[in-house]
Amino acid sequence: MPAMVHMKVKTNQRILNADAVKRVGEEIIVRGWINARRDMGKIAFLDLRDRSGLLQVVLVPAELSATARESMKDLRPEYCLSIRGIVQQRGAKQINPNLATGTIELLAKDVEVLNTAKTLPFDIADTSAINEELRLKYRYLDLRSARMLKNLDLRDRVVSFFRNFLHEQGFIEVETPFLTKGTPEGAREFLVPSRMHTGKFYVLPQSPQQFKQLLMVAGVEKYFQIARCFRDEDQRGDRQPEFTQLDLEMSFVTQEDIMELIEKMTLAMVKTIAPQKTISAKPFPRIAYRDCIAKYGSDKPDLRKNKTDSNELAFAWVVDFPLFEDDGHGGMQAAHHPFCMPHAEDVDLLDHEPLKVRACSYDLVLNGFELSSGSIRIHQRELQEKIFRLLGLTDQEITERFGHILEAFEYGAPPHGGIAPGIDRLVMLLADEPNIREVMAFPKTGDARDLMMGAPSEVEPARLEEAHIAIKNPKVSRRRAPDAGRRT
Ligand code: ASP
Repeated sequence: MPAMVHMKVKTNQRILNADAVKRVGEEIIVRGWINARRDMGKIAFLDLRDRSGLLQVVLVPAELSATARESMKDLRPEYCLSIRGIVQQRGAKQINPNLATGTIELLAKDVEVLNTAKTLPFDIADTSAINEELRLKYRYLDLRSARMLKNLDLRDRVVSFFRNFLHEQGFIEVETPFLTKGTPEGAREFLVPSRMHTGKFYVLPQSPQQFKQLLMVAGVEKYFQIARCFRDEDQRGDRQPEFTQLDLEMSFVTQEDIMELIEKMTLAMVKTIAPQKTISAKPFPRIAYRDCIAKYGSDKPDLRKNKTDSNELAFAWVVDFPLFEDDGHGGMQAAHHPFCMPHAEDVDLLDHEPLKVRACSYDLVLNGFELSSGSIRIHQRELQEKIFRLLGLTDQEITERFGHILEAFEYGAPPHGGIAPGIDRLVMLLADEPNIREVMAFPKTGDARDLMMGAPSEVEPARLEEAHIAIKNPKVSRRRAPDAGRRT
């Protein structure tokens, strides 16, 4: 430890660990958590962790204030500390090349315990092998691990990139309601009872689909939103009851325009945020739905040359999905959602062979996952009504459920279309994580529980009363009820 002339801290300003490397010889204040403690006789070393990383702190009794010397023996992992000390260069042999701050250390002068900590329920060095229920119960501790913090950071950078990119292209972000009426996209919706309107319910949106179309009628032209979507489905596979889409919609565009925009944005994002990844094919290959099923037996094929290489990103477009599909009960359902425009060449088939009609829709797939779905929408009332009728809705149902959007189409609705890339899946693949929960701050379990908050939970009888709700059979769990939809 070479002797040094040092300047006193002028203010009470705390700096990040990572910035300490620029402050050799200076007195600084750092704050964070004890990641590890090593005792070497009288001297002790702490690895202090903050958002920016680790910093080695040396505790030498003779250098410490009286109170710090006193508390030195009590400092345990995960205690939250404020430390004033002098940044000093490490000797050549002490340099740790694996640490961003490995060339320096902090010689502590004063240590203030901001808070003590119990022994953690698990080791946060790497939580990937820890029981997931325990991790979810103590998510705030799980998120202290470097991997999880890195995932949150990556997600933020991906989302920020998209926001900036779209703003540069003239899009504006518009928020749409969470308390709304159903959007028919196949999945069951969460219900929210209305206290003020007895017996009535809001639903949480499966996606902002109708709102973004109505924003096009409003003349917004280029809309996007980092949108939370809610689907009350049994959690088959890697799904969550709430998830995030980059929802977007444009007016006066062709399918080609939207696909080009998404492709350009995705390539730019990967280049900036995940340059270690390689893209299998550019431009992204396009496969017609029928050929895709015939060739790969799936509408979301994994087209990587090496299926085990997580650094390879095989994007592809699947186009020309059918507009309708057999619902298994003698009727038809929308293959995507009922707002998709039928292919101009196939409109004549609507009356005779509707199952043969192709939609102007497109999915972006990545490494075997459906990343986004989009379509050109219907913007004429008559055609939209016809589609609803083909889907088996009565005139009364059409008016009750969709009167608002049909009416909107009568006020000069522009041609429009859009898409909605799923953020969770994309970040999961960029982070090489095995499931989307690893890239969500507070995900739910496979059976839709939040183990940290204890949700869902019972509520006081008075609250039920206010919401005009009586629980019929409190003991019966509805967890295994079948899905309403088949959309993924
Ligand atoms: N709303 C659709 C979905 O959630 C996406 C779209 O058509 O833009 O899949």
